[in-house]
Amino acid sequence: CGIAGYTGWRNASEVIIKGLQRLEYRGYDSAGMAVTGNGLEILKSAGKVVALTERNGKQGLAGTAGIGHTRWATHGEPSDINAHPHTDSHGNFAIVHNGIIENYNAIKQDLERKGHTFRSETDTEVLAHLIEEMHATGGSDFTRAVRQALSQVEGTYGIAIIHKDQPDRIIAARKGSPLLIGIGEDEYFIASDASPVVEYTQKVIYLEDEEVAVVSKDDCHVSTLKELEQSKEVYELAMSL
Ligand code: GLU
Repeated sequence: CGIAGYTGWRNASEVIIKGLQRLEYRGYDSAGMAVTGNGLEILKSAGKVVALTERNGKQGLAGTAGIGHTRWATHGEPSDINAHPHTDSHGNFAIVHNGIIENYNAIKQDLERKGHTFRSETDTEVLAHLIEEMHATGGSDFTRAVRQALSQVEGTYGIAIIHKDQPDRIIAARKGSPLLIGIGEDEYFIASDASPVVEYTQKVIYLEDEEVAVVSKDDCHVSTLKELEQSKEVYELAMSL
């Protein structure tokens, strides 16, 4: 339902929680986030963002990059386990997803035959395992594995992914579900609408369908699923808090 991500120099968990609170108006049943700093740390729960705030504690998760999500359940009841982020089998990376993967059942059955074990009932978890499978069988390039996985799915997605081996990098992509990137000074914001971003910057780029953004704290690079480079126009938001 809502996505808020950050990579830069601030405490990511604080930026994400604030962002999720600004997305609350969209309605949701669960919230969660993944932050890289001490490996890959994930907090998630059914219910309001305030439950996540409590779990985050006073200090907050340590780390300057992360992704967050508010969920409006379509596949699997609202629960802690079904809340996003979801991970691959080994907890190497985390993904948040808005939308519906229509062919998730066929993909899931195929991956189960290949030995994947699923923890949740969501369509989203299929994406995590499919990316893992593409990465295991297709070579070392993680972004390429993401592209290969996305090329196989039918349905809609706005996604953000973070990997513990590339702790300041977020991969974002969309098809049929909005996603924008806010551009700051040595920092970037990823969000499903402008509300989590306006506090920090007015400069944004909008992802188009089947575009993949690879974002780190000092670089943002957009290309298509088919690996065509895209040069993106930067817009000024005519918005303030
Ligand atoms: N289909 C996904 C789920 O049920 C994502 C729902 C959403 O957009 O929040 O978990």
